[in-house]
Amino acid sequence: MDQRKNKIPVAVLGATGAVGQRFVQLLADHPWFELTAVAASERSSHKRYADACGWHLNDAMPEMVREMQVLPVEPGLDACIVFSALPVEMARQMEPQFAKAGYTVCSNTSAFRLDPNVPVIIPEVNAEHLALLKKQKEVYGWDGLLITSPNCTTTGFAIPLKPIDTAFGLKKVIAVSMQAVSGAGYPGLSYLDIQDNVIPFIQGEEEKMERESRALLGRMEGKQRVDADFILSAQSNRVPVSEGHTICLSLELQAKASVGEIKEILSDFRSPIYRPGLPSMPRFPILVREEPDRPQPRKDRGAGDGMQVSVGRIRPCPVLDVRMVSVVHNTLRGAAKGAVLNAELLVAEGLVS
Ligand code: NAP
Repeated sequence: MDQRKNKIPVAVLGATGAVGQRFVQLLADHPWFELTAVAASERSSHKRYADACGWHLNDAMPEMVREMQVLPVEPGLDACIVFSALPVEMARQMEPQFAKAGYTVCSNTSAFRLDPNVPVIIPEVNAEHLALLKKQKEVYGWDGLLITSPNCTTTGFAIPLKPIDTAFGLKKVIAVSMQAVSGAGYPGLSYLDIQDNVIPFIQGEEEKMERESRALLGRMEGKQRVDADFILSAQSNRVPVSEGHTICLSLELQAKASVGEIKEILSDFRSPIYRPGLPSMPRFPILVREEPDRPQPRKDRGAGDGMQVSVGRIRPCPVLDVRMVSVVHNTLRGAAKGAVLNAELLVAEGLVS
């Protein structure tokens, strides 16, 4: 493996988009990874990154990427790990080609999330699902591998659901999301459509929330992932917020739990595989807020450098058992930084070659 300055060379596919720019920002100065290639569509390829990309993050474009030439999305990139932030149709076509060519592919896209041979991973929730990679190798015979991150909204409630499920067992979940416009990519929705408005439909989102959360909280039986059997009803809405998805949750539990007990297990939750050495993993993945009007996306999406899920308004539910509100940073924990953490986990587990 080419490890310039002892760092692992990595590439970003879809590097000019909303999530791709986050990857570039995070990888420009990562302690383990060196950004060696950026790739995007034909529209951008062979241009300087600074010319191809309409940079829209608040912090300036990192100097080290400005002069890099944007390359086409095809194997041959100078990297061991590729982070995919491609549109789903392109991801479906290209991610297996990279895995076949020997790359470690950490995808943000939904293309293979529900493939029974592809782990969908949040390290604090289900790192043991990496065992699926053995089956992936047998079934697909790739020299490399492919893992995915879940949908950004799903990430925002799967993290708090995990310790609650472990302690009390989930029976039913109602999840209503209010999702930021950056979740639709760049340039996304027109201002005239979203300003002063709520759009009560996001294509495919409710199905992803319902299916991916059961996969994430599922268990390994031999080489198979068995989905968790709670029932989840999702409703998703697009709201005029720039970044940060808010999810209102009502839960029915198998065992009785007081509000105090729920707060305690959420506050104490730590990754079962926590290693002080994973640079992007927060010490505590959940931040419990006690104020009556928190969490709020503008104030709380940055918690833990965008990696903590903020949970508040934990109180009894007169229909089910308990209700609460969570906020997640959709392009950090819910997308690019979640995938970078997945790559760090693969490195720590000795799975990147
Ligand atoms: P986006 O802003 O539209 O960016 C898409 C990127 O893919 C751009 O770099 C674009 O390059 C490139 N691209 C488009 N068509 C291509 C093609 N035919 N061949 C090669 N490259 C192509 O989208 P996004 O929001 O970053 O989302 C990227 C992926 O992440 C999607 O699958 C999305 O579902 C997923 N995701 C998004 C979020 C979020 O919060 N936004 C969260 C989780 C997951 P050009 O600039 O050259 O067109």
